[in-house]
Amino acid sequence: MAAKIFDVIVIGAGQAGLSVGYYLKRADVDFIILDNQTQSGGAWLHTWPSLRLFSPALMSSLPGKLMPKAKEGQYPHRNEVLSYLAEYERHYQLPIYRPHQVQSVERDTVHNCLKVSDGKYSWLAKTVVSATGTWSNPQIPEIEGHQAFTGEQCHSAHYAGVEHYRGKRVLIVGGGNSGAQIYAELAEVANASWITRGPPLFLPDEVDGRVLFERATARINGNDGDAPVGGIGDIVMVPPVKAALDKGLLTSQPMFSGFTDNGVIWPDGNEEQVDAVIWCTGFKAELAHLTPLNLVESDGKVQVVNGQAVKEPRLWLFGYGDWASPGSATLIGAGRSARENVPAMLGFLTEITQRSN
Ligand code: FAD
Repeated sequence: MAAKIFDVIVIGAGQAGLSVGYYLKRADVDFIILDNQTQSGGAWLHTWPSLRLFSPALMSSLPGKLMPKAKEGQYPHRNEVLSYLAEYERHYQLPIYRPHQVQSVERDTVHNCLKVSDGKYSWLAKTVVSATGTWSNPQIPEIEGHQAFTGEQCHSAHYAGVEHYRGKRVLIVGGGNSGAQIYAELAEVANASWITRGPPLFLPDEVDGRVLFERATARINGNDGDAPVGGIGDIVMVPPVKAALDKGLLTSQPMFSGFTDNGVIWPDGNEEQVDAVIWCTGFKAELAHLTPLNLVESDGKVQVVNGQAVKEPRLWLFGYGDWASPGSATLIGAGRSARENVPAMLGFLTEITQRSN
């Protein structure tokens, strides 16, 4: 019996994978989506309990289905995003299989396609979409004495809320939205300090996720001069951040220069004992499964043009960040990059199918 070869296998069922799935379903191609979680939601499953989006509901919808209005204010709570994503995949009956931790994507020269494996099972596909996000690849800077520090360290990827830190001396490192939001809530219950490399950039109250998306698109299209103010990492005035700023709580101090065994060394040489450090220092793309293709560059990215890998045209990347396609790490950008790049992928699929017949 001839081996089954899918038109497309999508790896990852977060917002990027679902957006691609929406357009694949409409095009009636033979595809599946593999995801390593036990339930829907992608990275949103792991964000801290109080997280609010920095983009309003209407500007955070995936293709075809509007996100319902936020229950409170204009910025939805992460639980509302989780419900929306669960409903989205149910509504469109996307063929998602869980949990499958894809370990490798490699070239199958016998069937002239790509082979996707989770260690136990393998699947063949004419094209593969990698949409594995960044959540499982958190970044922590190398700071002198890092290993010797016996206090707690946690990345924002694993931060689970204020209770654990009540009354403790805590440093929150990182000047983006995660750092601002986590510090804003910890400043109320802990002896917290916010550590940033430079002065934090607060956006005007009216600037939200939509404006940041437009900014990212303009930058990539080379129209930076006309772009609205603000970059994707600048701080959006979601209600808890605005409340902390209004109370005068949102002040930051410069980065410490090293660790001692029970604390940190400040730039003036003073040492201080601290209980915990929370790193809000970002993420890189999770691309370990692409190792056999030998495409991941030293900066942790894959060279792409409009989502298609330059050195392996059967591989497409969605989500991850502006390098994959403008604003594609946001809900609204995930939908737009799928709308723009999936048609090209379908054209490519037709071309290679005709060539092989
Ligand atoms: P993910 O959501 O991470 O989905 C990838 C899926 O692939 C996951 O289910 C993952 O478990 C799975 N996976 C990974 N590796 C494998 C593998 N090897 N095999 C199988 N499955 C795998 N965006 C907005 O639009 N508005 C906001 O307000 C906003 N706020 C944010 C606040 C914070 C603090 C953070 C960190 C992000 C925020 N974002 C926001 C961005 C957004 O949450 C993420 O960028 C987004 O979840 C990325 O979507 P994705 O589909 O690319 O990846």
